[in-house]
Amino acid sequence: MSEVHHFIDSKITNGTSGRFADIMNPATGEVQGKVALASAAELNCAVSIAAAAQPKWAATNPQRRGRVMMAMVHLLNRDMDKLAQALSKEHGKTLPDAKGDVQRGLEVIEYCIGAPEMLKGDYTDSAGPGIDMYSMKQALGVTAAIAPFNFPAMIPLWQIGPALACGNAVILKPSERAPTVPMMLAQLFAEAGLPDGILQVVNGDKEVVDAILDNETIQAVGFVGSTPIAQYIYSRATANGKRAQCFGGAKNHMIIMPDADMDQAADAIVGAGYGAAGERCMAISVAVPVGKETADKLIEKLVPRIEKLRVAPYTDGDDVDFGPVVTAAAKENILRLIDTGVEQGATLVIDNRDFKLQGYENGFFVGPHLFDNVTTDMDIYKTEIFGPVVCALRADTYEEALGYAMDHEYGNGTAIFTRDGDTARDFAHRINVGMVGINVPVPVPLAYHTFGGWKKSGFGDLNQHGPDAFKFFTRTKTVTSRWPSGLKEGGEFHFKAMD
Ligand code: NAD
Repeated sequence: MSEVHHFIDSKITNGTSGRFADIMNPATGEVQGKVALASAAELNCAVSIAAAAQPKWAATNPQRRGRVMMAMVHLLNRDMDKLAQALSKEHGKTLPDAKGDVQRGLEVIEYCIGAPEMLKGDYTDSAGPGIDMYSMKQALGVTAAIAPFNFPAMIPLWQIGPALACGNAVILKPSERAPTVPMMLAQLFAEAGLPDGILQVVNGDKEVVDAILDNETIQAVGFVGSTPIAQYIYSRATANGKRAQCFGGAKNHMIIMPDADMDQAADAIVGAGYGAAGERCMAISVAVPVGKETADKLIEKLVPRIEKLRVAPYTDGDDVDFGPVVTAAAKENILRLIDTGVEQGATLVIDNRDFKLQGYENGFFVGPHLFDNVTTDMDIYKTEIFGPVVCALRADTYEEALGYAMDHEYGNGTAIFTRDGDTARDFAHRINVGMVGINVPVPVPLAYHTFGGWKKSGFGDLNQHGPDAFKFFTRTKTVTSRWPSGLKEGGEFHFKAMD
């Protein structure tokens, strides 16, 4: 049985709190390891080491920091298979999904190679006689990243890459449900040349998160996870004077217009709704067909496609569509919500509540489900199910469909399927959601754009990765300098003019 501890000062460091959590194998339902849960004292010690190491890292020129990122890209490619195997074993997602998880993280590290360009300041020559003015972007100091279980490689890499490239030290607190890959990433960063103490992985639960939020040295907190925890972390971190960006849950609507290519739309819903067992913050969980004919046609096209989905462990080959959900509690919660959908009057078109996989009866597998005739007052519509369940919410008109997506409390991602440019453009302009797809069901922006939801899907001003990340992880200092020689010619006059 594996034991996961902490990574402090570039060494695997055993936890001393005596507290552990189980790491499950979601496919078998067995405990496959233990993860140490750090105490506040362990966290504070890791922060002190990071704070001592950080000034030298910040003083390292950005090109050299960029070279560490370049080496890291190479190492991530080298170890792609190893990382994907470890990720699938702990999380349950298929190997192609696990490789995608690493790949999307790698792309942000690749973007961070450009740190020298991103960190260039501004300069005004002769703002007054002999006066020059310049701004520089300086590192914050020690920052913290708190990650969810569902992308154990991508999200930590999104969080820590830009923070490190800007010259900060980082305390990473991975999900206790999937801690192995983040530990591997920290070891790879050390191999890539990151100095000791600059990236510390401290595993744990609420106790260590609270210690992060209350630690006075930590300057900024990045969080990704569910909305109630995002709200909690945002308010406590900012009340303690920290910069915070906290990304939460989602309920992503996909509108299907009558003129859409119905086969393309059905394929998109199947991939985006059931891929990774629906455990993606960008999963499509609500399909909104416009008009009765569109809705009937869509359901007719979805059913055979969903029935063909192969649910199995990642070890069962490349044709597995999705694996188990992460824990027994997650499975119970999904099945409970499905029951409420039936009780509250939705039509359960595809019902797999008795799904069992031979040989894996104790695994956390949930078969795909499809609801039709869902209404906005139902729990399955209001709540993020985070499982392989798609709800069809019928609308009579485009305006009604748009209104549903606008009125939902979450605003992470959304999509419209149509052949009409006017409608697509109108949707992109009016929708109050952070990431929009036009005939693209999972519109995840690439590394050089930014990723972030609106409404209750995101708290804080700046998004993840792209230029926003370089703003979030630096602060601007502006220097006004005057040299006496500049006053020789007409200095007096210019100063008056400036007043
Ligand atoms: P979670 O909120 O349960 O946990 C996230 C992190 O918070 C973990 O590190 C966990 O240890 C910590 N945590 C949990 N409870 C806590 C508490 N009471 N106090 C302090 N810390 C606590 O989320 P999860 O189940 O790991 O991840 C799934 C959620 O993340 C979904 O809601 C999904 O939509 C969301 N998510 C959002 C994005 C995004 O970019 N918006 C991306 C991925 C996942």
